[in-house]
Amino acid sequence: MDVQKAADIQAMVEDIVVTLDKPYLNQYRLICMRSRGNKARAYARIWNLPDIWQKALDVGPYYIIEVLAEHFDSLSEDKKKQVLIHELLHIPKTFSGALLSHGHPSAPVNEKAVKVLWKEYLQKKGISPKKEGLARFFDFGED
Ligand SMILES: [Zn+2]
Repeated sequence: MDVQKAADIQAMVEDIVVTLDKPYLNQYRLICMRSRGNKARAYARIWNLPDIWQKALDVGPYYIIEVLAEHFDSLSEDKKKQVLIHELLHIPKTFSGALLSHGHPSAPVNEKAVKVLWKEYLQKKGISPKKEGLARFFDFGED
């Protein structure tokens, strides 16, 4: 597996974070990477830096969003952003370095949650949601 920093994905994530304006999401502690030759079937996945590593290294929390080139790169721009929003939803409001599971009781990471933020993203960008096919359903190829 080959993995590299992904400036294009970093720019997309920064755009999403800045547009959604969720103060708990620290764009400077989100690092985007692109991998190739990965056997996983997901479009993307998110990696956390566990508390024990944060303490051992004397660093705060960081997250890595990894896109899997073979699956992610051929998606439409909209779907790429929706996949990235899905990954961002795994980050708890505390930005502690932990991750929320898909079935988290108070903050589930699912299609409904993605749609809420996607709609918000489009509104803040001044794009009409109707034109963007909000009704489509997606399989994010869970991580
Ligand atoms: Zn997920």
